[in-house]
Amino acid sequence: MEATQQERSPDDKLIHCTDCGKDFLFTAGEQRYYEQRGFNPPRRCKDCRDKRKSEKDSGRHSSAGMDAKREMFRVICASCGVETSVPFKPDPSRPVFCQRCYLQSREDKAGGRSRND
Ligand SMILES: [Zn+2]
Ligand SMILES: [Zn+2]
Repeated sequence: MEATQQERSPDDKLIHCTDCGKDFLFTAGEQRYYEQRGFNPPRRCKDCRDKRKSEKDSGRHSSAGMDAKREMFRVICASCGVETSVPFKPDPSRPVFCQRCYLQSREDKAGGRSRND
């Protein structure tokens, strides 16, 4: 009898990685974990997922960064001069405001002045 190197449950699935084309193991335990959290099963092997993660971390341009930690940029508020940070790259040709001034300018634009007395 051959002893298997790893404990494998019959519920383990092999998934074909969409990046490198290798089959990787989606174990029963992982399936449960994903299911509990309502995640879709992974389509990439761990190697490829790690690779993509580290690419993201190194500051590549990516429009789909909703789940990633946002990079913050330090700016000086154009209105009150306080130092603040914003979650986007500041455009040097436009003024950047701190959150307070930003909200204030939005309120002004919304024209809710007469409602508030
Ligand atoms: Zn892969
Ligand atoms: Zn300000």
